[in-house]
Amino acid sequence: MSQSLHPCLSCGVCCCNYRVEFSVYELQSQGGTVPDTLAHEVSGNRWRMNGTSHFPIRCVALTDFSDGHKGCGIYEQRSRPCRDFPFASYGCHDTRSKYGLPALSEEEVRRWSEAA
Ligand code: SF4
Ligand code: SF4
Repeated sequence: MSQSLHPCLSCGVCCCNYRVEFSVYELQSQGGTVPDTLAHEVSGNRWRMNGTSHFPIRCVALTDFSDGHKGCGIYEQRSRPCRDFPFASYGCHDTRSKYGLPALSEEEVRRWSEAA
């Protein structure tokens, strides 16, 4: 993989590791951004991205692009927990390790953290 590409584009494992829950008010129908059809109600005001309730987890919005890369198909519309999951955080490193991916290099962390 080219070093010029963001490591997330060849990863995506954080979208296959967590239950992605958010407030009902993040749904498009409630004035938010997340498409209602991609999520389901959990309890009252809590909703969850489809595909993240049961193992094997894979968020329905995780997209395999035709060029072989991966990414969020609703990146600009994603919910708060997705926005709050930082690249190169403990969770990022831990999830990559769990899925057998190599550790991010210091150069990758520095380069892409600065670009964020
Ligand atoms: S944030 Fe980390 S775990 Fe998530 S896609 Fe990017 S590199 Fe992978
Ligand atoms: S909504 Fe996007 S960023 Fe959030 S888990 Fe799904 S694919 Fe990943």
